[in-house]
Amino acid sequence: MHRIEQIYIDGAFVAPHGQEWFDLFNPATAQVIGQVRLADEHDARRAIAAARRAFPAFSRTGKAERVEWLRRLHAAVQAREDDLFDAIVEEYGAPVSRARWMAQYAASVLLDAASVLEDYAFTRRMGTAEVVMTPLGVAGLITPWNSNGGFICGKLAAAVAAGCTAVIKPSEMSALQTRVVTEALHAAGLPPGVFNIVTGRGEVVGAEISTHPDVAKVSFTGSTEVGKAILRAGAQTLKRVTLELGGKSPVLVLDDADFAQAVPLALQAGFMNSGQACIAGTRILVPRQRLAEFEAAVVAEVARIRSGDPRDPDTAIGPMVSQKQWERVQRYIRLGIGEGARLLAGGEGRPRGTRDGWFVRPTVFSGVRNDMTIAREEIFGPVLAILPYRDTEEAIAIANDTSYGLQAYVLSADAARARAVAGRIEAGRVLVNTLAHEPAAPFGGFKQSGIGREYGTFGLEAFMEPKSLLGVD
Ligand code: NAD
Repeated sequence: MHRIEQIYIDGAFVAPHGQEWFDLFNPATAQVIGQVRLADEHDARRAIAAARRAFPAFSRTGKAERVEWLRRLHAAVQAREDDLFDAIVEEYGAPVSRARWMAQYAASVLLDAASVLEDYAFTRRMGTAEVVMTPLGVAGLITPWNSNGGFICGKLAAAVAAGCTAVIKPSEMSALQTRVVTEALHAAGLPPGVFNIVTGRGEVVGAEISTHPDVAKVSFTGSTEVGKAILRAGAQTLKRVTLELGGKSPVLVLDDADFAQAVPLALQAGFMNSGQACIAGTRILVPRQRLAEFEAAVVAEVARIRSGDPRDPDTAIGPMVSQKQWERVQRYIRLGIGEGARLLAGGEGRPRGTRDGWFVRPTVFSGVRNDMTIAREEIFGPVLAILPYRDTEEAIAIANDTSYGLQAYVLSADAARARAVAGRIEAGRVLVNTLAHEPAAPFGGFKQSGIGREYGTFGLEAFMEPKSLLGVD
């Protein structure tokens, strides 16, 4: 049994003031694997005070110094890759190939920020003014459970690069990953107070961070509902916010697409991270005249996709993170059937060969209309909807008929045509015939998928404010 009893404040592991113990589960067995002692408001305030004390000196460090800190943080997290991998599999249930990528990403994102920082000009000339990009202050960084280690490191990387200090509120459900990452970051030897890590409940520690006057900025990844609550809470002190929220990403299969490539790619986009991905391509738009052909290829392909034990290298889809998440997915499957969508693959219940864990069957509905609940709401599980369309104009209209706008996919044999369609999609990222990630490019949502951007220069500038100096020649 794991027992996690410490939080990290002012460069030291300390016992929290909070007394609540929170159970940690292995989603592949539904068994309790440990407990974490949660921080409370008092702990959050101590962490904010430490970050505030550290800010004046840290904000004055130079670019070379911070590049060096980021390199050290990268080396320290990389050194713990195997431990992080084990924690991700045990506590989150990611299949091993995905868990390996996630563990590597937590380190690489720190190096990505170092290279952005190296090339970044903090001072530029605009007319007669000298414009200096200035760090905002104490940043509150709040992460979800679906990639906790990676989000901690990614947000901290941008904050450190900008010269901000940080209070991190990881998901309370991801305490094993947080422990590994905290130990690694501590080993890098940054000055005390530059980052502080307080695992606690969202409505307690997260709420304190979102309202505290000494927090200048909140960078949040999580649900749209909580994102809106943070925006409201931060309004009183006009906090700067970056909100990375939910999605209902369309996959536009154009009528010239080669289905031998398009079908596996669409299913990978939909089932990535066991369907628990904000960027999952969950609405698959297929030309009506090729619908039967597409459906047949989907049925054959889904039959090859294994949902089960995350430690089996053949597994593509691991368990849902919690019982609550499992029940949520089951409810959406029932809703889809009730609304008259046609079940093409999967359905309610557990996949054959699995028992106690929170496993779900890879599920695809066809004949879905865009006004059905399963086409509008984020399910956050491996449940996909195929929506037939008449022509490309209608496909673009359906793709954009959503309150979200995080990511989209366009699949076509004609690159120029796909490029033209991609230009008309309302989303922060559009991937044409690929699932590749580009860490140098901004990432974030249009519409209710968020506010602001992460990664690259845009992500760095989200932790800074421009200051214009006049008459300083
Ligand atoms: P969530 O919104 O429930 O929780 C996210 C974090 O916010 C947790 O640390 C939680 O404790 C905290 N929180 C909860 N209530 C809070 C409050 N009132 N004030 C401050 N903090 C609070 O999300 P989740 O269930 O952990 O994650 C799944 C969601 O995250 C999905 O909607 C998914 O789309 C989204 N997500 C978005 C991105 C992106 O980059 N756009 C990436 C991954 C996940």
